[in-house]
Amino acid sequence: MQRPFYSVPSPLVGEGQGEGEEVRERGGQCGLRSVSLSHKGRGTGSFLYVEREMKKILVLPGDGIGPEIVTEAEKVLEAVRERFGLEVETERGLVGGAAYDETGEPLPETTLQQAREADAILFGSIGGPKWDAVERDKRPERGLLRLRSELGLFANLRPAMLFPQLADASSLRPEVVSGLDILIVRELTGGIYFGQPRGIREENGERVGFNTDVYSESEIRRIGHVAFELASARNGRLCSVDKANVMEVTELWKEVMTELAADYPRVELSHMYVDNAAMQLVRAPKQFDVIVTGNLFGDILSDEAAMLTGSIGMLPSASLDEQRKGLYEPCHGSAPDIAGQGIANPLATILSLAMMMRYSLDRGDVAEAIEAAVERALDQGWRTADIATGGGRGASTGEMGDAVVAALRE
Ligand code: NAD
Repeated sequence: MQRPFYSVPSPLVGEGQGEGEEVRERGGQCGLRSVSLSHKGRGTGSFLYVEREMKKILVLPGDGIGPEIVTEAEKVLEAVRERFGLEVETERGLVGGAAYDETGEPLPETTLQQAREADAILFGSIGGPKWDAVERDKRPERGLLRLRSELGLFANLRPAMLFPQLADASSLRPEVVSGLDILIVRELTGGIYFGQPRGIREENGERVGFNTDVYSESEIRRIGHVAFELASARNGRLCSVDKANVMEVTELWKEVMTELAADYPRVELSHMYVDNAAMQLVRAPKQFDVIVTGNLFGDILSDEAAMLTGSIGMLPSASLDEQRKGLYEPCHGSAPDIAGQGIANPLATILSLAMMMRYSLDRGDVAEAIEAAVERALDQGWRTADIATGGGRGASTGEMGDAVVAALRE
C-alpha cells in the first residue's frame, strides 16, 4: 500500500542521503541545526541557523474567500497550540488586492519585512475582478510572484492525494483514482515566468509577443535534490517531466536530472515528455510517485492533478526556500464566485497549515494530528458543497473548520 504524503517521516532528507544533522538536542532554549536541500557538497551547500522555541507565523488572508478560509486555519492553529503547547505567535499582514486598496501596492514593504522576519507564512488567496483593470505591475498576482521571488521560495510542493472518503467526488472512475498519492515538485522562481527578455514589441508592422524559458544548471540541480530527497523518503520513484525533444532548456534539465540520479541509487528516475505526462495523469495517475518539473509545466500539471482528487478545495501546497522556510497556501484562487457566502471549503488551507508544521516547524506529530482530524471530520460526514456528492446544503466554511477543531480536541 502506498504511504500517504503526510506520513513521510523525514521530509527533504532521504535515508542516509541528505545532510540534515542534529548537532544539538532539541528541547533547550535553542538548538543549532544544519539543514540542507543540497547533497554531498554540490549545489548550494548547507546552512546553520538558530532554532528558536517561539516560532513566528505571518498570516496573509488576501482577497475573495482568502479571509474566510484563513480564519478556519487560525482556529485549527489555536487548537493545536492548546493541545501541543506549541509556541507560536502569529501576526496578520496585507497582500494582494486588499493591500493595493489600502496602500497602492499588492506587496507593501511592511508586508515584505514581516515575511522576512517570519518562520513561515500562511497565505489565503489573492485576486478578483475588482482588480482586473489595475495596471499590470500593481495587480494582486504580482504581489504573490514578488513575495515568492524575494524570499527565494524555489521549491513548490503540491501533493495530490485522494482521501478515500472522497473517491466519488473525482471526475475519474474510483478504481483509477482510489489510493492516489502523488507529489508534484515544481520549480517556482525560474523558467519562462521570470526569464528575460520578455515583452511585446513591434516588428515588421505587427506586434510580437515573446518570453524566455531559461534555467541554469545550478537551478535545476537545486530543485532536483529536493525532488530526489522527497522521492527517497516516499516510494522511491521520480519522474522528471520535460520537452527535451524540442526545447534545449529542458534538454539540459533532463541531462542534469540524469547526472543527479547517480547520487540517489535508491531512487528510480524516469523521464517523460510533458504532453505524455498530461495524458498519463488522467489515464493512469497511480503510476506516479513524485514528479519534478519546471515552472510552466508544473503550473499546468499540478492543476490537472488537483482535479483528479475531486475538488481544488482539498489541495494544500508549500513553497520552500533552501532553509525550509515556507509559504503555505491552498492550490486554489480567491474564488470570487462564492466569496462572502461562507461556503468555501477550508480544508486545503487547513492541510497547508499541516504542511507548515511538517516542513518549516519540524512538527510532524502536529501535522499528523491535523491531517487525522481532517479525516475524522470527513468520516463523520462533514462536506462543503464542492465535495458533497449527495446534494443537499453542504456544511458552511465555519462548520467544516469547527468539525476539524472538534476532532482535534476529541
Ligand atoms: P479559483 O481557484 O479561484 O476558482 C476556480 C473554481 O473553483 C471556482 O468555481 C471556485 O468557486 C472553486 N473553488 C476554488 N476554491 C474553492 C474552495 N476552497 N471551496 C470551494 N470551491 C472553490 O480560480 P479562478 O476562478 O481561475 O481565479 C479567481 C481569482 O483567483 C483570479 O483573480 C485569479 O487570478 C486568482 N488566483 C489566485 C491564486 C492564488 O492566490 N495563489 C491562484 C489562482 C488564481
